[in-house]
Amino acid sequence: MPDKMETIVSLCKRRGFVFPSSEIYGGLANAWDYGPLGVELKNNIKQAWWSRFVHRRDDVVGLDAALLMNPKVWEASGHLQHFTDPLVDCKKCKQRFRADHIVPATSAKPDLGKQVEPPKGKAVCPNCGGELTAVRQFNLMLKTFLGPVEDSGSSVYFRPETAQAMFVDFKQVQAVTRKKLPFGIAQVGKAFRNEITPGNFIFRTREFEQMEIEFFVRENEWEWWFEHWLSEMKGWLKFLGVAETDLNFREIPDGERAHYSKRTIDIDYHYPFGSKELYGLAYRTDFDLQRHAEVSGADLRYTDPQSGEKFFPHVIEPTWGVDRSVLVTLLSAYAEEGSGDKKRVVLKLPKTLAPYRVAVFPLLANKPELTKLAREIYDDLRKTFNVAWDDRGNIGKRYLSQDEIGTPACITVDFDSLKDGAVTVRDRDTTKQERVKIGELIEYLIKL
Ligand code: ATP
Repeated sequence: MPDKMETIVSLCKRRGFVFPSSEIYGGLANAWDYGPLGVELKNNIKQAWWSRFVHRRDDVVGLDAALLMNPKVWEASGHLQHFTDPLVDCKKCKQRFRADHIVPATSAKPDLGKQVEPPKGKAVCPNCGGELTAVRQFNLMLKTFLGPVEDSGSSVYFRPETAQAMFVDFKQVQAVTRKKLPFGIAQVGKAFRNEITPGNFIFRTREFEQMEIEFFVRENEWEWWFEHWLSEMKGWLKFLGVAETDLNFREIPDGERAHYSKRTIDIDYHYPFGSKELYGLAYRTDFDLQRHAEVSGADLRYTDPQSGEKFFPHVIEPTWGVDRSVLVTLLSAYAEEGSGDKKRVVLKLPKTLAPYRVAVFPLLANKPELTKLAREIYDDLRKTFNVAWDDRGNIGKRYLSQDEIGTPACITVDFDSLKDGAVTVRDRDTTKQERVKIGELIEYLIKL
């Protein structure tokens, strides 16, 4: 495929998955809105994640913390001091770059407490070949002010990750749930980073969403839980329909990890624009709880119910970007089949993630008896699924239109339906058609 990214971006805009934000005002660079289909896909991904990692496990509980937190949180976590990316400017064309992005010789990645090496040798501007400035550290925290006075006393930060609230609230959550180690806290929500070089559609934006788990364990069992979460992340990627061959599990070597981490794996995906991070998995030791206890003065230790021993739990952190999940799900699902008149574009999305689970059509729009029955079926199915309605053009075109947005099944009400109480159900992937009794549709679709 010539440029799969361009194809996906254009499909997303045309069909209302994702389009540029505030476009009537010329947009806002690298800000995107999820349209009617995009919000369904994104919500389905978040719900599937929550159901898989919170509801279906009895060792993970949820949290939905405030986005703006006491600024001391970011002091303790190290973000105010260290959450920086190395920035260089081109002296000639004035473009800005992340220094670590234009020096392929190093896989170094900016992280808390870790200073990235400046570009070595003759790094030049990738745009015009011009000379680059020296590296400056640029803090990624987005600042704002609470209340009417814009002074240092009222400044707060949009959280750059969801993680910290799960450490800060650890004691409360543990007390109210009475969970014993090992157990985790999960959160889904927005995060903000003043990225130097956002881009590649929804891959890197300044406002994005994360799904994170902080899983608290005893120190001597961290390795087991690290492997467990790695395997869970692999299972999730399989569920999204991502091929193993599109993934690279990159062990971050000593010296390149964040200072608090004893082991980190970046899960990279082979995007059309290169192999880059999709998700991450880190063993964060007991660094965060220790730091918050130290700075806040609160006792964040866990008390062993048997021995009464008090200690700081250690933490395994699997983290998933929501927007990157949407992107790789779309890239993995996109297919072009056939040629000429028979050509179709089909999004082979996992069926439970598709924006619409099913579409309902009356064979002909101008036959009230067909429309009436089709409408009854549509209204009935909508109690269980998100359902599309289409009565424009011919059936072939309607199928193509639904294939392109990944609707797993299309139901057509025809003249026979009025006599035999059955409808034609056409499968997105095989394009095979089957007659199904109207009363058995819900069961049939659930099985599908
Ligand atoms: P990168 O190296 O791509 O900047 P990171 O290592 O800084 O990413 P983390 O801090 O580990 O990212 O954040 C966890 C997850 O959040 C990432 O794996 C990714 O899925 C998502 N994420 C991070 N930054 C962005 C962003 N600017 N836009 C969209 N998603 C992001």
